[in-house]
Amino acid sequence: MITSTTGPQPADFTDVRATNLAVVLRFVRENAPCSRADIAASTGLNKATVSSLVADLIDRRLVRETGLTENRVGRPATMLVLDGSPYAAAGIEVNVDYLTAVAVDLSGRRLLSWRRSFQGPAATPAQAVAEVARLARRAVARMVKEERQVLGLAVAVPGLVGVDGRVRLAPNLGWRDVDLAGDLAKALRDPGFPVQVDNDANLGALAEHRFGPFGGIGNLVYLTGEVGVGAGVILDGRLRRGGQGYSGEFGHIQIDPGGPECRCGRVGCLEAVAGIGAVVGRDAQGAPVSPAEVEPELDEVVRRARAGDRATLGMLAGVGGNLGRGVAVIANLLNPEVVVLGGYYVPLAPWLLPAAEAEIRRRTIAPEAGGCRLVASTLGYGAAALGGAARVLDSVDSGRLPHRGEAPP
Ligand SMILES: [Zn+2]
Repeated sequence: MITSTTGPQPADFTDVRATNLAVVLRFVRENAPCSRADIAASTGLNKATVSSLVADLIDRRLVRETGLTENRVGRPATMLVLDGSPYAAAGIEVNVDYLTAVAVDLSGRRLLSWRRSFQGPAATPAQAVAEVARLARRAVARMVKEERQVLGLAVAVPGLVGVDGRVRLAPNLGWRDVDLAGDLAKALRDPGFPVQVDNDANLGALAEHRFGPFGGIGNLVYLTGEVGVGAGVILDGRLRRGGQGYSGEFGHIQIDPGGPECRCGRVGCLEAVAGIGAVVGRDAQGAPVSPAEVEPELDEVVRRARAGDRATLGMLAGVGGNLGRGVAVIANLLNPEVVVLGGYYVPLAPWLLPAAEAEIRRRTIAPEAGGCRLVASTLGYGAAALGGAARVLDSVDSGRLPHRGEAPP
């Protein structure tokens, strides 16, 4: 669901027709089935313009007539719904321990949802890029087999991503200055659709904003609960990236100056005291558990918490409190309506939330934490990949529509 505040802003566009096409497309997405008269009445566009725009959208197979008519006083009206059957938007998430791929149609229906394990830190950047490219090629091939045109691919990476799609730094993957967008486009042999790379938390926030139960909310922060912890920030309906695209490094807010060392080299970062590494801890030799062991270890923590094991409950309350100290910084600074916990935080939420909420209320100056709710994501582990697809759909909503008669690549 996209609110009007996230829609195309007239000042951003010189092409009035593209903007109007996007306005009509969004109206149909949100109000289907609807008639041409409904569109004219709600958008303020005149009926002849709406008819011409709808004809164009039908021509591009973005909208179709249902054949259903609505009986009203006067003559019946032909109803319109989203089509989009020849299209797909794709997203991939690269994480320390897994890769996910998702593709959706224009209405957000999942066409494909894959997850596979991935040994990110063990691979060189070149090996990792090759593996991501293989997954991307398979996903694209599947869509092409279904006779869909891929409108774009956006890839989520846990790290600092510049506006040019270069990964400047992904400490948990061991990447520095990796041109992932460029390398993927090459590996896909100039696929004829844009390949974008973005921070995983940013894309998680877009996924929540478009597909999550808090989709209509204008002020939302998404926290990745992966090996790293990042924040994707939506304020007043728009994703906020900051000057160079590096906002939201929530995991490196210092929570405890006397705390353990963080992977970034600093001490007491939120990631070190409230990331998954603080929950599943270290193996018998004192080394951090390997990425492949995170999920089985996490299952064990959940099992012990369910059984009421006091040490486990105490540890989770401590981690929840640290998380709450971090979220209180966000609540004081940004006054979000909702903060959504993603990734590994989801199965732990029943035990993290009470301590976290108490800290947020205690440390936020606004009464009742400024109305900030802390909730667990319902989108599952694929949220950032789904957000990649959401970013592609956002660009369609902004007026970058596929051209008619364009053949699948
Ligand atoms: Zn750090």
